[in-house]
Amino acid sequence: MIVAAVLFAYAALLSTVAPRLLRGAHWAERAPRLGIMVWQVLGASALTAAVLAGLALSVPTVRVSTDLAELLQACVMALTAQYATPGGASAGAAGAVLALAGLGRVAWCTGEALLRIRRERRAHREVLDMVGRPDTTRGLVVLDHEEPAAYCLPGRHRRTVITTGALHALADDQLVAVLAHERAHQTERHDAVLAWAQALARAFPRVPLFRIGEAEISRLVEMRADDVAAARSGRLITAAALLAVAGGRAPAAAISAGGSTAARRVRRLIEPHHPLSRLRIAAGSLTAAIALAVPLLVVGGPAAAATQLNYCPDGTPAAQVTTMR
Ligand SMILES: [Zn+2]
Repeated sequence: MIVAAVLFAYAALLSTVAPRLLRGAHWAERAPRLGIMVWQVLGASALTAAVLAGLALSVPTVRVSTDLAELLQACVMALTAQYATPGGASAGAAGAVLALAGLGRVAWCTGEALLRIRRERRAHREVLDMVGRPDTTRGLVVLDHEEPAAYCLPGRHRRTVITTGALHALADDQLVAVLAHERAHQTERHDAVLAWAQALARAFPRVPLFRIGEAEISRLVEMRADDVAAARSGRLITAAALLAVAGGRAPAAAISAGGSTAARRVRRLIEPHHPLSRLRIAAGSLTAAIALAVPLLVVGGPAAAATQLNYCPDGTPAAQVTTMR
C-alpha cells in the first residue's frame, strides 16, 4: 500500500505543482529543446507513476526466479493471499481499473489523434496538389494568395508551402530563414512531438500538466525552429521574416511559421540572446532523467527486497509474498 500511495502522491505532485512552476519558464526559452524534453519527460513520468500505482494495488510482488514452475507457484500464492480478504480484493480491483483505464484512454486518444491528423493532412495535400505550383528548385509548393503565409505539412509526404504574398513580402535572406524554420520542424519531427502532447491533453483535459504542457510544447517547438533559422540567417533577419508572415493562417494539420505566439518570439529574437550553458543543460537533462526513473525506483525497491526472501519459509501463503503496494 505504501508503494501505491507514494506513486499516487508523486503523480499528483507532478500533475499539479510542476506545470505551475514550469509555465513560461525563462530557462526553457533559452534552451527550447531542453524545455520540450522536460515537459515530455514529466508527462511520461506522471503517467507511468499513475499506471504503476494501479498495478501496485492489484498485483503483489513475487521474488523473481529462473525456475518457471517455482515462479508460477509464487505468483499464484501471492495473488491468492492478496485477494483472500474483501479489502485486498477491492483495492486490487480498483488498482486494475485505474491502470487499464489510464492506458486505454491514452491509447484511444493517441490513435484518434493520429488518424485525424493523417486524414486532415491527406485532404490538404490533395488540395495543394490541385491548386499549388511546385517550385522544385527550392523544394516548395507555391500558393497564389495575397496573404503572406508559410507552413509545412509534415510526415512522409511532406510539403513546405509558401504563398505568393509571402514571396513578395520576404527578402531573399528572410525567405532562407523561413525555409530553415520549416525544415527544422520536419527534421526534428515536431509533428510527432505535438501529436503526443495533443493526445495527452485530450485524454486528460483536467490535468494541468497535460493541458499546460500542450500549450508550452507548441510554443517551444516554434522557438526551437526559430533558433535553427537564426543560426543560419541571423536573429534579426529571422525576426523580420517572422514579422512578415506572422499574420498568415495555416490549416489545422500544418505547423505554421507565424501563429499566436509570434509577438513573443519576435521579441525573443531581437533581445540579447543568452543560450543556456552546457552545464545547465546537462543538469536539466539529469534532473529529467531522475524524474523519469523515480516511479521505476519506487516499484523496483520493494521488488528487489523481495528477492532476498525465501519462497516458502513456513509453508503459509501469507509468508511467501511481499506486496508492492
Ligand atoms: Zn513554425
